[in-house]
Amino acid sequence: MKLIFLGPPGAGKGTQAVKIAKRFQIAHISTGDMLRAEMREGTPLGKEAKGLIDRGELVPDDVILGMVKSRIQKEDCKNGFLFDGFPRTIAQAEALEAISAIDRVINIEVPTERLISRISGRRMCASCGAGYHASTYADANCKCGAALYQREDDKEETVRNRLVVYERQTKPLIDFYVKKGLLHTVNGNAEIDTVDAAIRAVLMK
Ligand code: AMP
Repeated sequence: MKLIFLGPPGAGKGTQAVKIAKRFQIAHISTGDMLRAEMREGTPLGKEAKGLIDRGELVPDDVILGMVKSRIQKEDCKNGFLFDGFPRTIAQAEALEAISAIDRVINIEVPTERLISRISGRRMCASCGAGYHASTYADANCKCGAALYQREDDKEETVRNRLVVYERQTKPLIDFYVKKGLLHTVNGNAEIDTVDAAIRAVLMK
């Protein structure tokens, strides 16, 4: 199974992607997580991406496509994969068509006014990259023991820019995938398990 999770920042793509990837035994490919790993390791790619990410801008298409192409060759993608945060532009979606077929695109819809409060409560682990929400996890440390921090790009001013970038560059993908007959929209403004059940219902169809 080859899936794409689409939606604005804060829609819950990452949270839902972890659950679905585990249930269907497919690889969870988050281009944002891959870029943050490059940043943590201080690689040239990580250094190049940092300024753009911290301002809420997108990383160039060719950089992302290079990363994705090599990622899907890995052993854990044999059974399929789930893209979380990719594609983010029409150019990426068109390039993806030449790389791999996709079975379904899940569009997770959440009202814009809910997104900022969701994102401002997000906390990340500085070591393993796990994500939490302050409203449901009060501890200052990750379950792995390392300290949690707030992503630079989860601060309010950057979030506002990320939402503008989403509207301009990523939202047109909804129409792109409607036209391909691949898009399924689920209501993301609900409890985590309710959204998970809605996504599973789409995947069982
Ligand atoms: P995310 O964790 O998916 O919210 O991604 C964090 C940031 O990484 C984004 O705001 C972009 O700057 C960058 N990024 C992640 N995925 C992509 C992508 N597919 N295309 C361009 N930039 C990306």
